[in-house]
Amino acid sequence: MEKLEHIGIAVKNLEVANKLFAQLLGCAHYKVEEVESEGVRTSFFEVSGVKIELLEATREDSPIAKFIGKRGEGIHHLAFEVSDINESIDTYREKGFELINAAPKIGADNKLICFLHPKTTQGVLIELCQER
Ligand code: ZN
Repeated sequence: MEKLEHIGIAVKNLEVANKLFAQLLGCAHYKVEEVESEGVRTSFFEVSGVKIELLEATREDSPIAKFIGKRGEGIHHLAFEVSDINESIDTYREKGFELINAAPKIGADNKLICFLHPKTTQGVLIELCQER
């Protein structure tokens, strides 16, 4: 892993959360992006090179809707940048981590992404991401 790329936070209402995080972080979000395939609308903030990704569900079967239903709003995942996501997938699988998606998929912010299942990572959902 190269660096902590962003922290994903599940929110019920993106407009409300954008206002709150702008007050909290002292800067406005710099983009909003919808990822249709994941059923999410995201917004991004940046503080000293680390991004904060707010995630709002766009439909009921979205993983974010399920997460909020079970655990409420809050930290959803930590995303680490990798230089070669396919190689990382093989490496983590060999190390015994369970992957949620076996092949990289397209995420927000022009990234290829893959998730490690929280049951093999001490309850923390880990995203691997590579710039496309
Ligand atoms: Zn993410």
